[in-house]
Amino acid sequence: MQISAAVVKEVGAPFTLTDIDLQEPAPDEVVVQIAGAGICHTDIAVQHGHMPFPLPGVLGHEGSGTVVGIGADVTALAVGDQVAISFNSCAACPQCAKGQPAYCHGFLEYNFSGGRADGSSGLVSAGTKLGGNFFGQSSLATHALAHERNVVKLPSGTPVELAGPLGCGIQTGAGAVMNSLDVEPGSTVVVAGAGAVGLSAVMAAVVRDAASIIAVDLHESRRALATELGATHAIDPKEGPLSEQIKEIHPGGADYAIDTTAVTLVVEQLIASLGMRGLLGMIGVPADPQTVFSAGVFQMPLLGLTIRGIVEGDADPKTFIPYLLDLHSQGKFPFDKLITTMPLAQINEAVEAQHRGEVLKAVLTP
Ligand SMILES: [Zn+2]
Ligand SMILES: [Zn+2]
Repeated sequence: MQISAAVVKEVGAPFTLTDIDLQEPAPDEVVVQIAGAGICHTDIAVQHGHMPFPLPGVLGHEGSGTVVGIGADVTALAVGDQVAISFNSCAACPQCAKGQPAYCHGFLEYNFSGGRADGSSGLVSAGTKLGGNFFGQSSLATHALAHERNVVKLPSGTPVELAGPLGCGIQTGAGAVMNSLDVEPGSTVVVAGAGAVGLSAVMAAVVRDAASIIAVDLHESRRALATELGATHAIDPKEGPLSEQIKEIHPGGADYAIDTTAVTLVVEQLIASLGMRGLLGMIGVPADPQTVFSAGVFQMPLLGLTIRGIVEGDADPKTFIPYLLDLHSQGKFPFDKLITTMPLAQINEAVEAQHRGEVLKAVLTP
């Protein structure tokens, strides 16, 4: 079928809305008519060549919408179902078997190869194969091919056009708090970077009844929103070393810290801000994959510290997204406050607005 998609022609090129051909769904695939698709850091990283993906291609990995076609082997979904689309995984490797699909041994192949296992992509423009199947979806388009495996049926009453970011950025921040670090009530949590991922972590820490939630961000507007969402303190890192500012609030140090910035100095300052048996969760993805940080060989055992790298909030989207939506319906996880909807035709303006910090999470609607 003929669809419209935001094609990136080459590294560094803008998104160009283009009429392309979406092929018939493979046996395990569904066609989703996109109601909304978020823009996430990884889309922009690929656009600028920081992560590998075959171009020209279609990005987008926070899609949601309505199932309008199903492949021959799909049994758990039907035409008309409202769904969010998350990352894809193989279902068969040891990590998938343990319920940890974010660490799927085939993660790169299933999300970044640009096509299906047989080499086809499902997206064709003027006779040329496009990079598709990005995170098992390529949803910056009017329609996307996704898989039974990475599609999550939404409960009735869900604002379907807003649900896409639950599939990546929002589950990443919330899952870091709820799954990876398993934050305990009454604890102190520091969140560095109050973008969509960091603010999702703040909201999750509120759900977990953390006593102190300290948000760190350079932008005043983001610190204000963090406070509105339940952060008890908001720190400007320009006002002095983070660890000193945090220890002024909590002389014993923090129980948990979450880094979404991938900035070496911030990571090291977060380690220095931890108290006894403190845990650091590392979520941020640096532009340079060789980026490193230091931690004290003496300090680590002395304080009993743990450092955890985290992908997608250790979430199994099939269960975690419905859980977050249930919290949202109770008014306990107001993720819609992070989202600004804009038309798909304004995708380049949306990327700019997000980059300038004017928009936290742009969701593009048809
Ligand atoms: Zn993402
Ligand atoms: Zn797997």
